[in-house]
Amino acid sequence: MRWTLDTGWHGREVRPYGPLTLDPAAAVLHYAQEIFEGIKAYRHADGSVWTFRPEKNAERFRRSARRLALPELSDEDFIGSLKALLAQDHTWVPTPKSAADECSLYLRPFMIASEKFLGVRPAHEVDYYVIASPAAAYFKGGVEPVSIWLSSHYNRAAPGGTGFAKCGGNYAASLAAQKEASAHDCGQVAFLDARENKWIEELGGMNLFFVFKDGRIATPRLTDTILEGVTRDSVLTLARDEGLSPEERPISIDEWREGAASGEITEVFACGTAAVITPVGELVTEEGHIRLAAGSDNPIAKRLRTKLLDLQYGRAEDTHGWLTKL
Ligand code: PMP
Repeated sequence: MRWTLDTGWHGREVRPYGPLTLDPAAAVLHYAQEIFEGIKAYRHADGSVWTFRPEKNAERFRRSARRLALPELSDEDFIGSLKALLAQDHTWVPTPKSAADECSLYLRPFMIASEKFLGVRPAHEVDYYVIASPAAAYFKGGVEPVSIWLSSHYNRAAPGGTGFAKCGGNYAASLAAQKEASAHDCGQVAFLDARENKWIEELGGMNLFFVFKDGRIATPRLTDTILEGVTRDSVLTLARDEGLSPEERPISIDEWREGAASGEITEVFACGTAAVITPVGELVTEEGHIRLAAGSDNPIAKRLRTKLLDLQYGRAEDTHGWLTKL
């Protein structure tokens, strides 16, 4: 689809995958006026294909668009684009071989400023695309706990910035920290707030949850420096369904360190579309490792993970009306 200042959105079409032709002066290549989304299509046992809470992604895409001064896309166009692509490419949605097989078709909607214009101002010509790729589980170990690197030199987002938007620049800015993580054998980076370097925000591509000894469960409250995950919101709802009364509140790195050492914190897990729910085994920092003294088997993370996957793959009743047929 194409958007121009004069005519708005037009030119809806599905065409073969292939390289794009962009003018070298296209604004996106210089000023990163770009946003994207990530959402999956799941094949159910009866062969039908479904996606999960696409209206949440559509809403987030509009939030991102407003922050990046890009044009907004309606639910109808956003969800319609997924349906139009799937009508053509439904055979690319893999069929799970068992309940443990977390294969899906990953969908990547994105919007770029394609106008050839080197002045710094919101583009008057914008393109929107969706591409797709079959995907397997994000972390090869499944529910094996992963190691996370704590970034102490780099922040991901700052107040008033773009942290809550899903724009390419946030990810570009996270890569130097990601490089440090890899050097420490960690798959993801945990970021702290930019003002005090004290409050836990999120990982480079996932939100974080903490489970306490007394059964409480908590996640950092949303601010303009945290990306509001669809999985995060779903976990909060599923936790409430389980009678867990989850909290959204500031959580400091000291609370993590002390709670892990004392056994007050029994589980830490990351969540996102790609990784679903994955236990965090240890936080690797410049001052050493933070490991859970309780040496948890992560029962809550595993239970919520199974609940979520059962819903997404149509093995449980969709009581919240979260599935949309593609
Ligand atoms: N935080 C960041 C920075 C992310 O990139 C993602 C992935 N979109 C998430 C959290 C998790 O969001 P979701 O559950 O919607 O995939």
